Amino acid sequence: MESTTIATRGTTNRRRGAAAAANIHQKIVVIMGATGSGKSKLSIDLCTRFFPQSEIINSDKMQFYRGLDITTNKITVPERNGVVHHFLGEFDPTQPEVTPSDYRSLAGSAISDISARKRLPVLVGGSNSFIHALLAKRFDPGSDLFNGPDPVSSELRYSCCFIWVDVSLPVLNWYLAKRVDEMLDSGMLEELAEFYDSDEFDSVMGRGGLARAIGVPELRRYFSEDLGGGGERAYEEAVGAIKENTRQLARRQVEKIKRLREGGWDLRRVDATEAFRAVMGAESGGRAAEIWERQVVEPSVKIVKRFLDE
Ligand code: ATP
Repeated sequence: MESTTIATRGTTNRRRGAAAAANIHQKIVVIMGATGSGKSKLSIDLCTRFFPQSEIINSDKMQFYRGLDITTNKITVPERNGVVHHFLGEFDPTQPEVTPSDYRSLAGSAISDISARKRLPVLVGGSNSFIHALLAKRFDPGSDLFNGPDPVSSELRYSCCFIWVDVSLPVLNWYLAKRVDEMLDSGMLEELAEFYDSDEFDSVMGRGGLARAIGVPELRRYFSEDLGGGGERAYEEAVGAIKENTRQLARRQVEKIKRLREGGWDLRRVDATEAFRAVMGAESGGRAAEIWERQVVEPSVKIVKRFLDE
């Protein structure tokens, strides 16, 4: 897909004009959860098999940008199964980073547009400050919701159905370490080597955004002789740091989700722990899939159906 800068997106927004106004009667489904908890898989299960009139809006702030698809864990085109995704790899990483205010306006326009076409917007991703910026009725770009004194407001711009895919942290941590190994096996190192070597590397590094994706700073030392890297030890250290930073990210994401829930957001928790345990254990893949279906997909379908029927 062609990359888009904030400036050209802004023009598109203005052209959309009045359609961009938020509307409390617009229904949207929001799938939240820590990194690795299965949000993308659940969203595709729901959108392909149960709610085919849906379109997905990405809310992972590292996946907004073109590039580093393995490092940032973007869902692949075959995995998307034909479901339309918005804001997935659409932005130019050499341009100023997308802010929560930008996202509020851009994703707000996308929601109006999708709703106007009588389709269902499904927000999926782990960047909770962006989700908050988009959905809160009142948004102050200057305040830091999760670190400042401001309480979370339960007043929202849309009629939202929140599903929180939760996995107990010890189980999720095990899975996240395995996922980092799988990402490395599937080409993360080569992807980053190419990125550090690319013409746009310096401009991306100056921009925030993609430069902060977990893996980019950690593996840089390994690749950089100037920084004394390159050896096996530097590699092991980098991989250890990636695993630890991913675990920290998951922990912080769960804290933020709980904060939104305590602030009155009606998050419906769906527990995927058993499905992950089945993946961990000696059980066959079929058993994990069956538990996923019964304990995650079925309850989620019920929640969404009830919401759409209201
Ligand atoms: P904050 O308030 O800290 O900005 P947030 O909810 O907006 O939090 P998160 O999505 O939690 O943002 O991301 C925080 C950090 O986690 C990012 O700056 C990045 O280092 C890392 N991160 C998040 N998503 C990814 C991803 N898909 N790939 C790699 N790193 C990621």
